[in-house]
Amino acid sequence: MSFFDELQLLDFDEWGRTVQAATEKDVINALTTRRRTVADFAALISPAAVHFMPQIVREAERITRERFGQTLNMYLPLYLNNICSNCCKYCGFSAGNHFKRRILSADEVTEECEAIKKLGYETILVVTGESARGGMDYFREMIPIVKKYAAYLMMEVQPLDVNDYRELRELGVDCVCVYQETYHEPTYLDNHPHGKKRNMRYRMETPERLGEAGMDKIGMGILLGLADFRADACMLAHHIAYMRKHYWRSRLSLSFPRLRPAEGGFSPPHPVSEKELVQFICAFRLFDPELEISISTRESAKFRDAVVPIAINSISAGSSTQPGGYAVDKHDLPQFVINDDRSAVEIEEHFRKLGLDVIWHTSRIGG
Ligand code: SF4
Repeated sequence: MSFFDELQLLDFDEWGRTVQAATEKDVINALTTRRRTVADFAALISPAAVHFMPQIVREAERITRERFGQTLNMYLPLYLNNICSNCCKYCGFSAGNHFKRRILSADEVTEECEAIKKLGYETILVVTGESARGGMDYFREMIPIVKKYAAYLMMEVQPLDVNDYRELRELGVDCVCVYQETYHEPTYLDNHPHGKKRNMRYRMETPERLGEAGMDKIGMGILLGLADFRADACMLAHHIAYMRKHYWRSRLSLSFPRLRPAEGGFSPPHPVSEKELVQFICAFRLFDPELEISISTRESAKFRDAVVPIAINSISAGSSTQPGGYAVDKHDLPQFVINDDRSAVEIEEHFRKLGLDVIWHTSRIGG
């Protein structure tokens, strides 16, 4: 039974009510127990847990340091194209938005990689829209180029079949992130009216195909703001527990993109505040101490400075969210608005002063 099948047995709205009904006693139990269940997680993200935030933050920080030491990894997204056949209502790259589409050639990818090399990054996240033109044939040509510059290579691209993931592994890909966006089926279908992404089962079973292909790390997450984020977070916690049980060989990472304004005038129906986001991140750290948690430049410098020392393993910095943004063409439409525009060097300096060991050069990886 896949997780999509298991999801049919879970009542999304009921989990939302469970979170709202959690008591202070439930929160204390969740804080003091050794192995936390999804019900404990629900208590930790509840309104009742707000009064316990100082304890929750302290515990999250303690677990993070115990499990990961002082390490903070930095990565850079590399957008290879902005062509997409999907019509996600919240995204600037949606097929319904009319602007000049861009797909980088092999020479342009090399140019971008050279620019990234000069910046000093060697953990690269390849990002593309979802289209047949930017599919496996394109990856077969581009991934070997990027791999020459990446000590650790991650991808955030369309869901693929298990054989494709095996091939990508052989080409040197270490991690693939495919975010579910939301586990609430009516919201999912409403926000994905056309294109392959409308197939919710195929998307949700992607982490399982990655696990089957033996990918080193699998990135999961939801898009905060689409549906009731507390119920969505409980579904994600169930999904993580499922992956731990069935695909324990792969590491898991989580990302928490909060919806921001996008081309097309979309504004999030369930906005998530910074305080709620901190609570959510800490609760995941307590629920599953092994999770690697990352936070992108969508969030402000002030917010990232506050949350990184508590529970974050990796951050992007100095990012461009448009194809060709580092060297080839700096003026195309970005996928979303960047909120922390400090350079990697500035960010490194800031977190070093706080005692974190910031890693973004190969010479530093593992050392
Ligand atoms: S979120 Fe991804 S799949 Fe959806 S329109 Fe944007 S690029 Fe395409």
